[in-house]
Amino acid sequence: MELNNIKRAVTETALNAGKKAGEVANKTKIRFALANMQSDLDELYEKLGKLYYEAISKGTENGTKESAVIAKIDSIKADMEVLKAEIGLFPRSGKVCGACGKTIPKNAEFCPYCGEKFAK
Ligand SMILES: [Zn+2]
Repeated sequence: MELNNIKRAVTETALNAGKKAGEVANKTKIRFALANMQSDLDELYEKLGKLYYEAISKGTENGTKESAVIAKIDSIKADMEVLKAEIGLFPRSGKVCGACGKTIPKNAEFCPYCGEKFAK
């Protein structure tokens, strides 16, 4: 959706700008981006609930639209994990990438920094 793309762009801008401006500004911007993403998530959860309600009440449930919304939710949640790790919100749940040495989410399937893939 357009809204998501805009917020993604904001997030990326925040990250890039933050790296130049210093850690404090970076953390503030990441927190701001996280808050935006959380409100995206809330909207998507609400949308998902409505989709299910309509599909089930009309008996037309096939899961297609729902799957698309769920995929978006998963994608935003994954991005949020990375951002949270970036500002050290949950260092204990992170792991260190063997290839580049950055801290990344524990359940990450690949490194968001260097693209290294991990066995599940
Ligand atoms: Zn890496």
